[in-house]
Amino acid sequence: MRDPRYDILFEPVRIGPVTAPNRFYQVPHCTGMGHRYPQSEAALRGVKAEGGWGVVSTQETEIHPTSDVSPSNQARLWDEAGVSALRLTVDAIHAHGSLAAVELVHNGLHSNNRYSRVPPLAPSHAVVDSDDPLQARGMDKADIADFRRWHRDAALLAREIGFDIVYVYAGHDLTLLQHFLLKRYNSRTDEYGGSFENRLRLFREVLADTKEAVGDKCGIAIRLAVDELLGEDGLTHDGEGRDIVAALADEPDLWDVNLSDWANDSQTSRFSEEGFQEPYIAFVKSLTNKPVVGVGRYTSPDTMARAVSSGILDLIGAARPSISDPFLPNKIRDGRIDDIRECIGCNICVAGDRTRVPIRCTQNPTMGEEWRRGWHPETIPELEDKGPYLVVGGGPAGLEAARALVQRGAEVALAEAGTEWGGRVSRESRLPGLAAWARVRDWRLGQLRQSPNARMYLESPLTAADILEHGSPHVVLATGAAWRADGVGREHRTPLPFLAGKLVLTPDDLMTRGIDAAAPGPVAIFDDDRFYMGSVLAELAAGAGHRTIFVTPAPIVAPWSENTLEQERIQTRLIGLGVEIVPLHGLAGLSADRLRVECVYSGRTQEVDCGTLVSVTSRLPDDRLWEELSACRHEWEDAGVRSVTRIGDCLAPGLIAAACYSGHEFARSAGADAHP
Ligand code: ADP
Ligand code: SF4
Repeated sequence: MRDPRYDILFEPVRIGPVTAPNRFYQVPHCTGMGHRYPQSEAALRGVKAEGGWGVVSTQETEIHPTSDVSPSNQARLWDEAGVSALRLTVDAIHAHGSLAAVELVHNGLHSNNRYSRVPPLAPSHAVVDSDDPLQARGMDKADIADFRRWHRDAALLAREIGFDIVYVYAGHDLTLLQHFLLKRYNSRTDEYGGSFENRLRLFREVLADTKEAVGDKCGIAIRLAVDELLGEDGLTHDGEGRDIVAALADEPDLWDVNLSDWANDSQTSRFSEEGFQEPYIAFVKSLTNKPVVGVGRYTSPDTMARAVSSGILDLIGAARPSISDPFLPNKIRDGRIDDIRECIGCNICVAGDRTRVPIRCTQNPTMGEEWRRGWHPETIPELEDKGPYLVVGGGPAGLEAARALVQRGAEVALAEAGTEWGGRVSRESRLPGLAAWARVRDWRLGQLRQSPNARMYLESPLTAADILEHGSPHVVLATGAAWRADGVGREHRTPLPFLAGKLVLTPDDLMTRGIDAAAPGPVAIFDDDRFYMGSVLAELAAGAGHRTIFVTPAPIVAPWSENTLEQERIQTRLIGLGVEIVPLHGLAGLSADRLRVECVYSGRTQEVDCGTLVSVTSRLPDDRLWEELSACRHEWEDAGVRSVTRIGDCLAPGLIAAACYSGHEFARSAGADAHP
């Protein structure tokens, strides 16, 4: 039964000529699928609609070859394949009674046009915003007229395909319409440049064109970045961001407002809380009578209801919360609040788009696999063979395998050596900024505790003999991995002899024991892992009052975190904490108080002060149990053991997302009757 406090979230909202059935609005978000994986894209959006999102939007939808962001996989309205793909998406959304929205885009100087090979377009001559050795050409009046026509044609095509809401998009520092608004890109001297009204002109014209073309049948949405967090150098919510809303007030049917660029809009939980955009967007409703949608990683129905009742938003926008739990609206509707799989704000979903592959999600292993593998986020076919299954290890892989097996009706015993559930997720969630990651553990534990089929044992370190004695026909090893202390990683592929016999701390040591303020300083972190761990430990050490030196063979701190949109924030935070950064260096020697580091290009060495060395390089699977069981394979049959399978980090160390996926994949493919 629905809690009446949340009734407000289920009220319909009129958006011009169409009506959203409720206030749950999946704002446009990339999937890494776009025009290249049309069936996958359609199935993903269809599942969102099935889960109760009243409006489901596409990702960026390019309107013309001059807006080609290949090899990124966005949607396309400029070739037949792209149009057919979008038809599938619209049908999948409509099949569940939701409205379909299309985010039309021209990417201006954000387009490299690597596939179409035409020169990019911009308000004024400018280098493109990638590293490509390429310039965009300033548009003349004929180009502006062409652009207006392309946008109008795309809107007409979108209406014909069946879209209910059509976007006019000026956001994320990557759309031509925003480029015209911004002084830093627009140095025109004609009526499209200079004064605020002139820079707004094209946006106003395209909005009017779109309304005139399709406003009879479609709601017209503006997506606008009201603040770029650049101060006077960009749009601000109390400057021109506000002025734009005031100027266009009731002209669109819907305002979709957010922060720019993408790294500001999709901040991770390491850097922001739920509802973090409210201070920037709250003003919008005071300037318009039209509905307003905004985002801010909303996962709690209380926060959502408050945002609506306090007059900040009319529609709760979500990308990541809808990825982590496509059925979030239906769960609120049905009073199943504890079943909501809350987004942890890690941006692994974003990394799919950034690395040009279909989306994936730490919390929701079915995300991106709705069509390719036929995985539904809420259902799994029942198993004929109910096991029992013995799962060893209660980290993300073991928890997810056990949870999904139980969902399939299997009997499961889950044994964990330690005193708490969650494995690495519990340990990592105690590090600075990573508290929300504990949701990976908490959701799975909550589900397992509801099931009579799950028996769960803490403080149960199992041996091979224990497992044979237990006699479960199916044994799943999810025993995890341990960080190594011998320096082996990307830069150093073999153990470093000078580290042997020395006290070298690993992330496991710091996660277990913390870092003592009295530990010998300075603390040198050698990060060859290149994602979040090294920088988080640097925060920990600096926070404990240590002089901290961050050595990495990479040119920047945590380069892979560019894929989660965090790199700049991470490096800025370390600089702010006074962490000394030594890029482009590997390790060459260690004495009691000095670390010798070596330039990755020249081989030249230098010494840095070091009382404590923390090595963050790579991990080794904890596969001792696997080795023991393999050694006594001949005893399995008598013991009744039919299969032993490694999953997660004990098979191959990777992301938490990979561990959850591995556990889920095991459970899906278990049993001869399984549909993978
Ligand atoms: P993953 O990411 O693959 O889930 P984790 O390292 O997070 O891996 O979790 C592995 C868990 O397995 C840890 O909590 C660890 O205590 C537990 N574990 C390791 N060996 C055993 C064992 N022999 N018996 C029971 N639990 C074990
Ligand atoms: Fe949220 Fe992380 Fe999933 Fe993205 S990958 S939706 S940030 S849990």
